[in-house]
Amino acid sequence: MSVLPYSDKLAPMANISQDNAFLNAALTATHAGVFEWHVQDRTILLSPNLETLLGFPAGRFDGRIDSLLDILNPHDRDQILAEVRSAPASQTLIETEIRINGTSGQTRWFSIRGELQRDASGTPVAVIGMAQEVPPVVVSERRMRAQQSALFDLLAEERIDTLPLDEAFQRITEKAAHTLYVERVSIWLFSDDMQTLQCHDLYLKSRADHIQCISLKASEYPRYFEALSKSRALAVSYAPTDHRTQELNEKYLKYLGISSMLEATIRRRGETIGVVCHEQVGPSRSWTLDEQHFAASVADVVTLLLEGHEREELLKHIEYQAMHDRLTGLPNRLWFRKLLEDRIRQSSRPFALILADLDQFKEINDTLGHELGDQLLIELGQRLTGLLPIGSALARLGGDEFGLLIEDPGAPNRLADFAASLRQAFARPVVCRGVRLAVQASLGASLFPEHGADVSTLMRRADVALYHAKTNDRYRIYDPSRDRHTPRRLTLMHDLIRAVEQGDIQAVFQPKLDIRSNKVVGVEALARWKHPEFGAISPDEFIPLAELSDLIRPLTLHMIRTASMQRRKWMKDGHDLHVAVNLSPRMLMEQGWSDELVSMLKAFDMPPGMLELEVTETAFINDPERALSVMQELSGHGISFALDDFGVGFSSLTHLSRMPIHTLKIDKSFVQQMASDPRLNAIVHSTIQLGENLGLQVVAEGVENAGLLMRLREMRCHMAQGYHFSPAIEADRIPLYMNQAFTD
Ligand code: C2E
Ligand code: CA
Ligand code: CA
Repeated sequence: MSVLPYSDKLAPMANISQDNAFLNAALTATHAGVFEWHVQDRTILLSPNLETLLGFPAGRFDGRIDSLLDILNPHDRDQILAEVRSAPASQTLIETEIRINGTSGQTRWFSIRGELQRDASGTPVAVIGMAQEVPPVVVSERRMRAQQSALFDLLAEERIDTLPLDEAFQRITEKAAHTLYVERVSIWLFSDDMQTLQCHDLYLKSRADHIQCISLKASEYPRYFEALSKSRALAVSYAPTDHRTQELNEKYLKYLGISSMLEATIRRRGETIGVVCHEQVGPSRSWTLDEQHFAASVADVVTLLLEGHEREELLKHIEYQAMHDRLTGLPNRLWFRKLLEDRIRQSSRPFALILADLDQFKEINDTLGHELGDQLLIELGQRLTGLLPIGSALARLGGDEFGLLIEDPGAPNRLADFAASLRQAFARPVVCRGVRLAVQASLGASLFPEHGADVSTLMRRADVALYHAKTNDRYRIYDPSRDRHTPRRLTLMHDLIRAVEQGDIQAVFQPKLDIRSNKVVGVEALARWKHPEFGAISPDEFIPLAELSDLIRPLTLHMIRTASMQRRKWMKDGHDLHVAVNLSPRMLMEQGWSDELVSMLKAFDMPPGMLELEVTETAFINDPERALSVMQELSGHGISFALDDFGVGFSSLTHLSRMPIHTLKIDKSFVQQMASDPRLNAIVHSTIQLGENLGLQVVAEGVENAGLLMRLREMRCHMAQGYHFSPAIEADRIPLYMNQAFTD
């Protein structure tokens, strides 16, 4: 193809439009035009209306592709050149979107569709096609969506609030640069006297790099500083002439090629404390209102972070105050509980909790005075500290009570030896003001995870052991058989045996909704017990009792049997539903019940795949291997598993990846607080994504209102369960819910 003289080149296009005024009018009306790009000659023909559309004065476009590329966004320029050059031989169509820098400084989008023409050797020689401007409303809509998701990413996905401040700043500047398509984004904070701005992070988009940079002084740039102190945002479309940035431009901007700036101030309690700067390098641009809002939101995110970090410092201080005992300098009860909670959350390794209590402390205080009592406590605190094995902890829980956490206590007799040495330390006389005081201490211990999986249970049980130690041999490990039973519990325990044997435990069913189709697709069976004397007893009360005795197995099988029977009835009415039954942790410790289960399912025509057993992570603390093997056996029969109450307790991803589960149920405490707490919102969202990544179904429980459902739908959660649709109801009422569409 030969290079045509400039005037000749325009001729054919001009003819198109003249010959076909109709076509030209149509193109103009739809903001479109046609082009013919001769790749090797580096020339391009534009129809006259496209020329004007692209902002060239009529008839003044010189026909060189480089002149056109000049007004293209650099990223798009490289992309389109690469696409044409490296198009595979089979490709005949180029389809893309490009941004051009409009004459008003605003970015405009064009969608391009062109046919690729090749020479005999297959090399692309020309692209002939149409360019059409993407309507500004579509562009702004897209822009706003991108802005929203950028903010969401920062807070929910990347969890920048959990990162060190400098890293969090880096995430912010990167995200802002890519969202606003600017070359430089930086975060600056004022000195206390407002006379200096210090840059804390500067991101350069083209280099994909962060640099630490300079500080600016108010004395050198008074106008700029003044403007910042007065307004929420500065949108400067041409820095060299804007009075607010002229000084900056002379000494700094012009050397960096910065033409336009969008500055959003970082504010705290109404005062300006810094600024987030977005700087455009190259041709100048204007800033739309939504871009200005976005910049302000970015600055707000910085404020949020700063407040978080400040608050943390303050909290640490208050926490220390609140968590230490003034007298002995030892940590106090609050601290101890928190320590235990953290410890339980972090690891399932065993530890012992020991409570120690002085036997005659009250007498000492009463007869010899508080001062002496105080001295005694200080001295004892020091002695105990000296005895602590590595990794263990000591706290003064109040009065004359101490608490100890002993890591890896080993066999009971090892713990008993340690307890004996503690008692000796207590018993060695203390000399206070010439008085020799000898005290006895009693010790009670409970073991994690054997005696409890939460702090309250462990404390209570160590207390029960302490109580027995006092009347007996001064040291005791918790013994369930000697636990104090309240009369109510004893009665319930007794009556539960009969209730289970006689089938008085009833199953009610709570619908599970498929969020996409708005249809009920399954139910969860929940146990109910109406006690003749006490009335309705919550499963939270009687299930633990059943677990303590041997009742949990018959109870569980009873629930599965009832559920299977009901399912068969619903099936006859034409409703095909999944049924979920809760499985106690204890059941995962028991072996040899899968055969019984499987034959029962068969008897009730229940396909194993339609049964889902809901297990909690608690089942994995004691003996994960055993729990896994029971699960694997059942899942080998086709039964599926859901992980219940996900998020509370032990959430261990190691276990999660090994468990044969196909559903995650997000705990209702997360779901319900999601609306008021952005962190929980983020947790729920990332749990849904985690589920997605692991190929699991995700069910949100405790959905009590339409707002929550809407959020969950946006987060693409699969299923929901909760009072918003229905509480657990009698089996007969379930069909009423079928075929009913629930909307938000
Ligand atoms: P879960 O498995 O987490 O069951 C969900 C509980 O949340 C049920 O309480 C249900 O009625 C309640 N719930 C459902 N939707 C909402 C809602 O929108 N808002 C609120 N606030 N609560 C909602 P329920 O029936 O009292 O059961 C309590 C727990 O007892 C169950 O918690 C489960 O751990 C246990 N449980 C119940 N039945 C059985 C059973 O047959 N076997 C075993 N092992 N445990 C059972
Ligand atoms: Ca459940
Ligand atoms: Ca649950």
